[in-house]
Amino acid sequence: MITQEAAGWELPDWQRQQADLITDPAELFAQLGLTPQDLPASLAAAGDFPLRVPRRYVDLIERGNPNDPLLRQVLSAPEERQLQQGYSADPLEEAEHTAVPGLLHKYHGRALLVVTGACAVHCRYCFRRHFPYQTHLSGKRWEQALEWLAARPDINEVILSGGDPLTLNNRRLEQLLEALAGIPHLRRLRIHSRTPVVIPERL
Ligand code: SF4
Repeated sequence: MITQEAAGWELPDWQRQQADLITDPAELFAQLGLTPQDLPASLAAAGDFPLRVPRRYVDLIERGNPNDPLLRQVLSAPEERQLQQGYSADPLEEAEHTAVPGLLHKYHGRALLVVTGACAVHCRYCFRRHFPYQTHLSGKRWEQALEWLAARPDINEVILSGGDPLTLNNRRLEQLLEALAGIPHLRRLRIHSRTPVVIPERL
């Protein structure tokens, strides 16, 4: 087998961290010395939205403290499965505002691109945990979304979102940013990301 080193290339540190996340609640429980009796409920709660947490973030969590606020953001918990009256799987009603696949248009002057379904961390409070990410931008959908933006001079702001746009590699991001820069009426770009918080090396 040819290793990355032998082939003369190596993944940047942030990509290595992203490829080596903790995804098994049992490993997280063991690493943090949490009460094993709580593990089955956590495993069940991770079912439709798996655990994903970078290891260096876990290093910041207090061992043996199930209420550490950093832990509560990432550990699947049984409360997530309780149905609450008045709450919905699509709280922002984004499904109704898909202009073309991967592009949401809800507010005047602004469009949001769902550039990926991937995140460096799964936040338990995520309002897109049930988002149909099969519609995120890929292949021909990029062209379709860029054509839509180019034909809409009333849009002056684009938000890169997902998922987390900073999970894309630099080459992909550069391609996208160059394409957006070529649309003259776009004035503002916003990037919605949590990656700088959990893998600061990304920046
Ligand atoms: S990084 Fe953003 S999109 Fe991803 S799970 Fe967290 S809140 Fe949701």
